[in-house]
Amino acid sequence: MKRWKYLLIVSSVLLVGCGPATPELGLLEEAAEAMGSLRAVSETTGVVLEGSGRTYRLGQNQTPRADLPYYEIENYRLAIDFANQRWQLRQDRTTTFFTGNPLFGVRQTFGLDGDVAYDEGDDGFVQASDRVASQRRAELYHNPLGIILLGLDETSTASNLRDEGGDHVVDIAAADGAQFTLYVDADTLHPSRVVSARYHPMLGDVTYETIFEDYAESGGLGGFQARLTLPRQYTINLDEYTIAEYRVTSDTQGAVGDLSVSAAPAPPDEVVVESEEVANGVWHLRGGSHHSALVEFDDFLALIEAPQSEARTLAVIEHARELVPDTPLQYVVNTHHHFDHAMGIRAAVSEGLTVITHEINAGFFEDIVARQHTIEQDALARNPQPLNIETVNGDDTYELSSGRRTLEISRIVGDQHSDGILMAYLPAVRERILFQVDAFSPGAAAAPFAAALLENIEEKNLRINTIVPLHGPGTATLDDLEEAVEQEGRR
Ligand SMILES: [Zn+2]
Repeated sequence: MKRWKYLLIVSSVLLVGCGPATPELGLLEEAAEAMGSLRAVSETTGVVLEGSGRTYRLGQNQTPRADLPYYEIENYRLAIDFANQRWQLRQDRTTTFFTGNPLFGVRQTFGLDGDVAYDEGDDGFVQASDRVASQRRAELYHNPLGIILLGLDETSTASNLRDEGGDHVVDIAAADGAQFTLYVDADTLHPSRVVSARYHPMLGDVTYETIFEDYAESGGLGGFQARLTLPRQYTINLDEYTIAEYRVTSDTQGAVGDLSVSAAPAPPDEVVVESEEVANGVWHLRGGSHHSALVEFDDFLALIEAPQSEARTLAVIEHARELVPDTPLQYVVNTHHHFDHAMGIRAAVSEGLTVITHEINAGFFEDIVARQHTIEQDALARNPQPLNIETVNGDDTYELSSGRRTLEISRIVGDQHSDGILMAYLPAVRERILFQVDAFSPGAAAAPFAAALLENIEEKNLRINTIVPLHGPGTATLDDLEEAVEQEGRR
């Protein structure tokens, strides 16, 4: 158990009658006084925030530059036990956007107990990855009380006091090496934000920032802690994106309770690639929730989709090369920029593949490939390669062909899931295969985008024997799609 030892220092400083040991500690003391009193802040062992807000879906926007879709959040409750380094967040989410899996007030619970991060699964808590655990430890200090307590702790280092804009700024390093920058409003002396660096597998090195606004006296009756002044508004930014906003009341008196949990270790993230040859030289590469497809041409191979993660995409690429060892794998068709479908693009580029995507997404992939990945080095950081990109323009059909085979790649016009979403079609009489994702996922709870796909098929007079969806249990037929459209119409 970690103890806040600053009180001892304060007492000894008072005995000899001098001020704080450093200007940095002086600022932290002033900030604590502005939040109520140094003593009240130092004695705080936990806080409960309750309220409502929004959480945004990073990497799921209509175009790479569009606003992020969001969940409406009710019954938000974040309990933090600073003394024992535990926290737990629960909230009820409701979708405000079209999706195949709509949520209406569905509870989500996750947290941290010391070194263990956990998420609530169907059968209790499941342990999250080490990366998640270290990011959740940082969360303890992306809070005005947590960062002041950390900065005052004798095992931490506070340094580099400076002024930026209207803030006093200080860097705080924890004993375990975690680093934070605290901004303190020069007028009110309230902490205004905390910034730290973290790794995102798609975006690389990013800044993680929590902004504290609208300070007000917190709840509770009597005692020092009743007088704490805490933010009512929290805004969380990852890089340039706002990913969460909460409007809260804070209570340092209420029982944080025992936040210890026993989390079952998550099953290891096994990457499985299973292939089914759906036509001569055409494979559905399945596994997990996000599939790919492989098309063999005379002179090269083309992969459709590099989804989910570097590990998945590298496994899919290896599998493709094993299926057709004598023909070079040259292209990857990216259906759309959504992170779950594009997370393997950097890995595909590191393997020398040319990316085919809609022109709407080209600038996005130029940025993704150029980004710094130093906090963790991914495959492309270890083996830098230039981005080779071919674009499908407007509503034109892009033909990828060699020998007798042509793959017709075009936009699904009018799709409300993504503006630059592509489908691909093999027109040969014995094939007539359509590859698509997210427009029609067999087995999904809803199919809000299926009608647009069907319209595109009819508009282009595509004759279809087989649909190869990149979500769902297997292949489907045009009848299945028509059925989904009909069912959606009845909803
Ligand atoms: Zn999508």
